[in-house]
Amino acid sequence: MTIEQVQRWVRPNIAALKPYSTARDEYKGSIGIYLDANENPFENGYNRYPSTTLKGQVRTAIAAKKGIASERLFLGNGSDEAIDLLFRIFCRPGVDNVISIAPTYGMYSVCAAINDVEYREVMLDEDFSLPVDKLLAAADAQSKLLFICSPNNPTANAFPREQILSLVRQFPGIVVVDEAYIDFSSEPSMVELIDEYPNLIVLQTLSKAYGLAGLRMGLAMAHERIISIFEQVKYPYNIGADTLALALRLLETDITPQVQTLIAERERVAAAFRAVPCITKVYPSDGNFLLVKTERPRELYEYLIARELIVRDRSRTPGCEGTLRITIGTPEENERLIAEVARYK
Ligand code: PMP
Repeated sequence: MTIEQVQRWVRPNIAALKPYSTARDEYKGSIGIYLDANENPFENGYNRYPSTTLKGQVRTAIAAKKGIASERLFLGNGSDEAIDLLFRIFCRPGVDNVISIAPTYGMYSVCAAINDVEYREVMLDEDFSLPVDKLLAAADAQSKLLFICSPNNPTANAFPREQILSLVRQFPGIVVVDEAYIDFSSEPSMVELIDEYPNLIVLQTLSKAYGLAGLRMGLAMAHERIISIFEQVKYPYNIGADTLALALRLLETDITPQVQTLIAERERVAAAFRAVPCITKVYPSDGNFLLVKTERPRELYEYLIARELIVRDRSRTPGCEGTLRITIGTPEENERLIAEVARYK
């Protein structure tokens, strides 16, 4: 597949778009009297729109960390922004469709509904493995995107890279691999393959392993021509000045020790849960959370809430019947959780 083929899937109105150009897109110098953006001139630290230079620095820093050219990186207001942009760039409302595994992250179907795009779900196999052939069989000429969340939320497992790659090779559209939890995974990222496969878009986020959920910054990584379309469709100044400044500073922190602790804690909590009678199954996890099966999920959920332990009830999600999703906390928080679950009858 060539990038020219991929570009043909861009909605005609988007391909023809004359994007809005911000004052700061036009003048990138740093000194002078700024009378170009209708800002309030009195300094309070926030009276100016976010600096494009600073955004460029953040982009360069993150691209370097990810081992890609900065032209191949889009910074979004969370990866949720990138998900929505994918629909707006590629999917004609009422005409095109997208395919996704199920169960999976809820925003793909919500964005599909918002954008009036048909959402075709293909259930994972019983053991949560990837139904490669069924996903391919669900596609037709109007299938623009295939969402593969790996490690998958809420099932917690990562799919083997070879299987995702076989989808990238065979799917007649764009394969979006959402790697929000990749830093906790035993499977490697697909990012290095964006050079080779123009129909591969990889999403990541600073909200999980980087511990910056409050900043709202997500990444889309793909061929530079796709990224330049993201840049044209996004809102002007989509990332706030504080987020940019803090991201640049906080990105210097080495996340490895925390990630290692969370992975070790995940395995410790999983082992403890396996020894508790009320939990009938602990699914293997490549994320910073566990999916567990229990006979009375709602009851256990309410029991934990009453003890100020808030988890996610996934028992009404088809494919996840009887389950709760539990994020790994600090060692002390996990200790509390294990103790309360052990006391539950
Ligand atoms: N993808 C997945 C799989 C997620 O679980 C989440 C958040 N729960 C997101 C994307 C969105 O992350 P953010 O917008 O914070 O980057």
